Amino acid sequence: MTDPGKESAASVALTETVFQGVGVSPGVAIGPVRLIEFGALAAPQYLLATEEERGGDLERLTRALQKARRQLAALKAKSKSLPPAAAEEMGLLLDAHAAMLDESRLVRGVRSRIGKGVNAEAAVQSEVRRTVRDFERLEDPYIAARAADVREVGVRVLRNLMEGKADAAQIGFDAMPDGAILIAEEISPAETAQLDPDKVGGFAAVLGGAEGHAAIVARSLGLPAVLGAPGLLQAMRGGETVIVDGEAGLIIAHPTARTLDRYRDKQHQQDKARRQLAKLKTLPAVTLDGCEIALHVNLELPREIEKAADLGADGVGLLRTEFMFMNRPAPPSEEEQYDFLRTVVEGMKGRPVTIRTLDVGGEKLAFSLGDALTDSLAGAANPALGVRAIRLSLREPKLFEAQLCAILRAAAHGPVRVLLPMVTTPGEVRQVREIMARLWRRLKRRGAALPEAPPPLGVMIEIPGAALAADALAQSADFFAIGSNDLTMYTLAIDRADDQVAHLYNPLHPAVLRLIEFSVQAALRARLPVSVCGEIAGDPRFTALLLGMGVRELSMAAPSLLRIKQRIRKLDLTSAADRARMVMGVTDAGRIAALLDDMDGLS
Ligand code: PEP
Ligand code: MG
Repeated sequence: MTDPGKESAASVALTETVFQGVGVSPGVAIGPVRLIEFGALAAPQYLLATEEERGGDLERLTRALQKARRQLAALKAKSKSLPPAAAEEMGLLLDAHAAMLDESRLVRGVRSRIGKGVNAEAAVQSEVRRTVRDFERLEDPYIAARAADVREVGVRVLRNLMEGKADAAQIGFDAMPDGAILIAEEISPAETAQLDPDKVGGFAAVLGGAEGHAAIVARSLGLPAVLGAPGLLQAMRGGETVIVDGEAGLIIAHPTARTLDRYRDKQHQQDKARRQLAKLKTLPAVTLDGCEIALHVNLELPREIEKAADLGADGVGLLRTEFMFMNRPAPPSEEEQYDFLRTVVEGMKGRPVTIRTLDVGGEKLAFSLGDALTDSLAGAANPALGVRAIRLSLREPKLFEAQLCAILRAAAHGPVRVLLPMVTTPGEVRQVREIMARLWRRLKRRGAALPEAPPPLGVMIEIPGAALAADALAQSADFFAIGSNDLTMYTLAIDRADDQVAHLYNPLHPAVLRLIEFSVQAALRARLPVSVCGEIAGDPRFTALLLGMGVRELSMAAPSLLRIKQRIRKLDLTSAADRARMVMGVTDAGRIAALLDDMDGLS
């Protein structure tokens, strides 16, 4: 937060205040604040009849408390960048909240209620209510303020207990003014999936990094967004006008008339640039020396299909099917998945659609898969290294078979490719190929409409081990899609969604670039199609380097496609290849960045 001369977040509430975060999705949004609070959550109430059920809820409570402690620690680390007085005030408050999560009277009360058969959510709500009532009876203003803290801690624990189970109506995305700017402590991937870009103008949150899925969905929807901005919630009130500058990573509360004018002007300039780019829709993505590049889109949500087709994309390079499983009480049936996939395939009118099988786990959770499964994924010591993606699919044959059957049937309506996430060994690919062949025969016997042959089966190269064994994987896979997001995370041991290490997340690290180059070369040697579908594919800074390495297919969030096409049309491939060789000889990420900026001037 930059506001010289002011002491605390609270005292600056009505003057123009600028918050600095990480700009994760470009563009300017101006609109009324909508604070995303979870106090209104309707907690379910039921009885725990058996000892086992009561034990289960006690465990859920322990995990929710642990998560709350981690959240408070992250908020405290974040608040250190506030002005000293505000940081101190916030630190004390967060410490007080953390203390309540230890064996306080509140927690003991909740445990005792669960022990008597009350489910965890209802136990938290009742115990918070009782404590607040006791405090309020004392009619002491200091104690009254503590009652608000108890309520806040209760909501945090409740939210953790109910994560992902709340539907859109409960969270309140439905009833919000048009163009609202969402301000939250944190926005999960499942919550971003509920955002309607026709209603929401943009969003900002205290926590979150540039490569997490909340950021990815924001970019896909073209919503300006800033994450990792400390102090936000204290200075904002619902309904007030706020500016989100997704390029510079700024949130401006209580903007002056002059600032508003400046930003409205910026919005006009951006609209103009967008109209200019739109003229490229019907032109090919071809380099100056005549090499045609395939430009595909990444899709997460059904509502993005129309935009992708309208942009003239050459296909869908990555359909993240996990979003189909979020924000619903039960997983979609085979029939429902088939209907959705068929709509996408038909919507792309003969252009290929690459359907990635379920990538749940890590930061992406889908509560429709059931409490037991979700708890076991989320409760792992290292969820990103645990049962995620293909590991989950192979462990849950019923779930996987329903999805594969839906994909095989959708393939009857147009060209489809099947993509497997988080593969590490050729054995996994062979196993899936066998399952696919078996399901193919089963569907055929049942008389289902199918294409002539099973669709090509490809792998994401997103784990360092897969990249280093790319030549072996090339023997069993039909194509590669390089997932630079996870490849960067796993290579550098940086959690892509953690804003505290966001400054260390760098796909330009020579280790990441070498793994990408190694995988591209393995694919080219085996004459396998290879694309890049991580976020770097939509960043014009990387275009010359990737093309210079031999990549001829890029898949990205739809709003980036025309900018990348513009870049390609100004690029000379021979010079790009020379320059890529030079970049690959450099070992310093800073120097690589400078060389890439230089390449921008290449023609
Ligand atoms: C990646 O990891 O680069 C990728 C494209 O997959 P996701 O972002 O969905 O993990
Ligand atoms: Mg990935």
